[in-house]
Amino acid sequence: MSNPKDYTIGWICAITTEYVAAQAFLDEKHKEPEAVSLGDNNNYTLGKFGKHNVVIAVLPEGEYGISSAASVASDMRHSFPNVRIGLMVGIGGGAPSRKHDIRLGDIVVSVPCNEKGGVFQYDFGKTIQDQSFRQTGFLNQPPMVLRTAVNGLKAQYESEGHQLEEDINRVLEKKSRLRRKYQRPAPSSDRLYQTGVTHPSNDEESCAVVCGNDQSNLVLRHERAEDEDNPAIHYGLIASANQLMKNASLRDKFAKENDVLCFEMEAAGLMNQFPCLVIRGICDYSDTHKNKEWQGYAAMAAAAYAKDLLCRIPLNKVEAENRISDLLSSVLDTVSRAREGVEKIKYKLDRSEDLEILNWLTPIDYGLQQSDFIMRRQKGTGTWLLHTSEFNTWLNQRNKTLYCSGIPGAGKTILTSIVVDNLCSRYRTNPSIGITYLYCNFRQKHQQKPENLLSSLLKQLVQKRASVPESIKTLYERHNCERTRPSFDEILEALKSITTQYSRVLIMIDALDECGDSDSERQRFLSAIFNLQAKTGANIFATSRINNNIAKLFEVSLSLQICAKNEDIESYLNGRMSLLQSDILDDTLRGMIRKEVIRAVDGMYAKSSIKYYIYFNLNFRFLLAQLHMNTLMNQPTKGDIKQALQYLAKGIDGLDETYKQAMERIEDTGSRFRELAKHILAWIVHAKRPLSTTELQHALGVRPFTKELDRDYLPSVQVLQSVCAGLVTIDEQSGIVRLVHYTTQKYFERTWTSWFPNAQMDITKVCVTYLSFDVFEMGFCRSDREFEARLQTNVLYDYAARNWGHHARIASIEEDLILNLLESRAKVSAASQAMMASESYSGFSQGVPRQMIGIHVAAYFGLAGAMVGLLKNGYNPDLKDSYSRTPLSRAAENGHEAVVKLLLATEKVDVDSKDSEYSEYSRTPLSRAAGNGHEAVVKLP
Ligand SMILES: [Zn+2]
Repeated sequence: MSNPKDYTIGWICAITTEYVAAQAFLDEKHKEPEAVSLGDNNNYTLGKFGKHNVVIAVLPEGEYGISSAASVASDMRHSFPNVRIGLMVGIGGGAPSRKHDIRLGDIVVSVPCNEKGGVFQYDFGKTIQDQSFRQTGFLNQPPMVLRTAVNGLKAQYESEGHQLEEDINRVLEKKSRLRRKYQRPAPSSDRLYQTGVTHPSNDEESCAVVCGNDQSNLVLRHERAEDEDNPAIHYGLIASANQLMKNASLRDKFAKENDVLCFEMEAAGLMNQFPCLVIRGICDYSDTHKNKEWQGYAAMAAAAYAKDLLCRIPLNKVEAENRISDLLSSVLDTVSRAREGVEKIKYKLDRSEDLEILNWLTPIDYGLQQSDFIMRRQKGTGTWLLHTSEFNTWLNQRNKTLYCSGIPGAGKTILTSIVVDNLCSRYRTNPSIGITYLYCNFRQKHQQKPENLLSSLLKQLVQKRASVPESIKTLYERHNCERTRPSFDEILEALKSITTQYSRVLIMIDALDECGDSDSERQRFLSAIFNLQAKTGANIFATSRINNNIAKLFEVSLSLQICAKNEDIESYLNGRMSLLQSDILDDTLRGMIRKEVIRAVDGMYAKSSIKYYIYFNLNFRFLLAQLHMNTLMNQPTKGDIKQALQYLAKGIDGLDETYKQAMERIEDTGSRFRELAKHILAWIVHAKRPLSTTELQHALGVRPFTKELDRDYLPSVQVLQSVCAGLVTIDEQSGIVRLVHYTTQKYFERTWTSWFPNAQMDITKVCVTYLSFDVFEMGFCRSDREFEARLQTNVLYDYAARNWGHHARIASIEEDLILNLLESRAKVSAASQAMMASESYSGFSQGVPRQMIGIHVAAYFGLAGAMVGLLKNGYNPDLKDSYSRTPLSRAAENGHEAVVKLLLATEKVDVDSKDSEYSEYSRTPLSRAAGNGHEAVVKLP
């Protein structure tokens, strides 16, 4: 019997053909394992390839796809705890193109390209009929040791050629039984049909019979010459999904747009939880044509290559890798996400009307943020929380609350995402467990009123049911025709009722301190959540910055203090360094970086009041390490890295210093880049809501006094990310541009006047110039479609229309530019449509007040200077829009005291003007001001 602990390399096959091929290449076969973990149903073969002990596993008969592969890998990890690197070896469909002459029997190796991992995951999208698909992400890179070996082998093959064909023949000579199925088929059976030539559906006959050898249907390829490798090895992207690719035009699209070389169905299940290299022998061309003939040989070719590769890896290099089981005690489950994705799409197809209800509940989607956070998480970090007794007590009992507090930089949000991810994968096969979560964010306070937060929890729970429950439909019908919103209590009742439809509900709330506008709003939200818990036994997990008011509310709960852990920092550094170009970074320099960065973030131990400092130290270390790595990764040469290492700022005092250093790096750059960097930062720091990459690109591309956007001035996304010295990052999923951390925002709120004093003025000018572009001379859009098209082409329009006035109110800016806009009826009408439209129902673009002119808009935003100008130019101060709202009503509602005074001073306004014909809904300016708590306005004489 063999000891499972002796095996360091895991080799996973999807089908028996691959398993047989793998075994055929073993140099030495070992006895069965002594024992495997309980519940592990994998079939294992143990043995040696060269010097390495390898465990080979195969997916259960008849199961394919991402999730099966994932569960095989996860069982293997448990039963063979010392496995350090993985190989996924087998067959796949090729994507031949003009660039890549891929033929049957060739080998494709998943090698990262353009800094993306070697495996590209995609789902077939909503409309399988028109063959659209969506990319769901690039998966992690294979481990360094494998990538190095691939490069070494590549160089060797290039100079000396390979012996794979000979290796295969040698094996087949020894095992003659295999010959018939596994030897290389005749060259004439390798037919690549033109993309448009499809195999008749339902015809199981072979291509030789049905599709034939007509040269005009085939892509003609020269015979491979003596000095060409045969089989050839191709290095690049492998695309992975839960369905077989059998469509030549879609195949070509992937090949062209994403440079995909091969399609298969398992790798995506492995990459994020089992650092592995994917090796595929090509057995068909991912089209409609049938070709089983090549499977055996393709499997042999892949196995032969994998063996050659293993023989290049020194034993000690494998041992130096982390054990996979250590890296991932909890599994980032791409699988469950992929599966959820597919199910969600299916739901959406079935329930287009349900979708409208879901959207009406709230348009906010926290799922995107969840994906962002979990992707930003460095491998191996943060899982300590899942092993604490507090977490496990919380999870194992109903009605429990776990409160986690920590200071900024401790990694609370990432931990929340790890918890969400863990629960989703833990319960992915159990639809009776409801999982729902919120990420509060101070930048989105206006969207995160208590009502909205509850609605979002409700939506997530409704979403997972097969159909929208009647009670929710009734709620929707009651409110939708009146265009009213459900009340706080109505939402809470609905939430209680849906919760009882689950056997358990788990609620995760991140960053309570950033929830709501005030303590009282937060309290209202929390008491609703506690009330829900009392009635239904739901579990609550919440995080917050350290805050006494909040902590008081959780006095009786389980609690944990969150801080970054030492090992988190180490594995973060290793992960980050493995992404750096290896030609700059040798082992000595890696060692130096590790040592110096850790010393820099450890710097505070030297300080006097040790206890205090250690506490802060632990929390801040992680953030500092991140920022230091940003600095280091921006250095062009070894020498620069070494020099930067000497100047790393230390400890807590280092935080401001680090930000300052980053700004100084920006000041040092060429003037156009410096200007651009400051504009970017000014926008992000001052924007009223998070901006997407494209919005920011437009904002930066606007030239003063222009009449249209010149797209030549749009900075590229790469430039956006690179010019700001690591202070800015882009969320991959949502495309939101943001500062690297909350404390960065705080830093700039304190110091922006010294870095970019004209920020508000510049932003106002850009917005106003944008809104004044000639294209908006077209005015108000007549349909949702037209309106949506306008927003899509002019991506900054939504932001500019909704917020320009807020910037203008605090900026000192000459009034001419603003008056020019406000006096253009067409442009104001267009802008007011975008300003007022709310996207929760169809026809939304039309359900806004018409006949709003400059004077209404100036009142709405409280632009006193502009109001003076407009009044002087003779505009009627008491003009009503189509909702019967006067400028006074708008200004009072929003508490703009100065403008209210200006309007009253004209003595031409009706203070008691009613704004609806229906007395029930009718409000006066005064009642609107009072309703919104604008005391100063109410008290005006
Ligand atoms: Zn065919």
